[in-house]
Amino acid sequence: MKAQIIDGRAVADRIRDQIAVEVSQFIEQHGYAPGLGVVMAGDHAPSATYVRMKRRACERVGITSVVHEMTANSTQAEVEAAIRKLNDDPTIHGILVQLPLPDAIDEEAALTLVSLEKDVDGFHPINIGRLGQKGRDPLFTPATPTGCMVLLEEAGVEISGANAVVVGRSNIVGMPMALMLIKANATVTVCHSRTQDLPSYLKEADIVIAAAGRAHFIQGEWLKPGATVIDVGTNRVDAPDTERGYKLVGDVDFDAALDVAGAITKVPGGVGPMTITMLLQNTLKAAQRSAQKSN
Ligand code: NDP
Repeated sequence: MKAQIIDGRAVADRIRDQIAVEVSQFIEQHGYAPGLGVVMAGDHAPSATYVRMKRRACERVGITSVVHEMTANSTQAEVEAAIRKLNDDPTIHGILVQLPLPDAIDEEAALTLVSLEKDVDGFHPINIGRLGQKGRDPLFTPATPTGCMVLLEEAGVEISGANAVVVGRSNIVGMPMALMLIKANATVTVCHSRTQDLPSYLKEADIVIAAAGRAHFIQGEWLKPGATVIDVGTNRVDAPDTERGYKLVGDVDFDAALDVAGAITKVPGGVGPMTITMLLQNTLKAAQRSAQKSN
């Protein structure tokens, strides 16, 4: 039997419609819109695309956005000044520091400066620390792993007690993903580039989160029959017969996995649309919390 496809686009569209309704109620009630402030430094081409997509998504649901665009030569002091300005701006409820920052910038110092209340990306060391601690809850959780959790729920997956394998341990995807699954009572194994015999871990996994950034690397036969597979990987591969000359594929050999998995996400159309949706949701949440505090 073929695996059920978990349609991230449809789930994201439904959540965005709901966010748009709540944003318009918020505006009616308070007389202003939730606001997102973005700090972007350097000339990393994909970052410019991501920021454009995020701004467009904000606009569609009624969230305002401003971008502090800075050059690759920006200094630490300039980046920090931009963050402080957004921290102090009452019309901004969420701040996003687009990563990567230029090499010369101390990323942790910059992220630590973001006001906890406005940390809609969930990357502030205190929010990440709370995510890893029992009985503590971060104000915000990172968008991509949060989107994966929503997709697991949508697919009706029982997370508590499940064996989950996260392939990848990056600060933005793999590690917070593992922490979120632990909080949800899964038994979690984190695999990475030094893991010996990855297939032996995957064979035991009821849930697989693939976030290695390697095209079609995870083979269908490595999976446990019936496993739920969330493919975060977004990799460009040459496709000379297409207009763009490339296409995006996931970390999982999708066609082979379809015959083994119980449920699986596609790339594109899986995790990608969820990531921006979770950012919108966090920004609305930040504005609601700020309005409540000032009442
Ligand atoms: P990173 O490059 O920061 O991390 C990749 C991780 O995968 C590392 O921990 C690395 O291990 C591990 N890894 C690399 N090769 C292997 C291997 N052969 N076996 C096991 N583990 C391996 O990437 P990101 O976490 O930022 O992103 C991962 C993927 O997700 C990318 O394709 C990216 O484009 C995509 N992505 C998609 C998003 C979306 O919204 N859909 C959002 C963010 C990312 P080690 O630590 O040992 O180096």
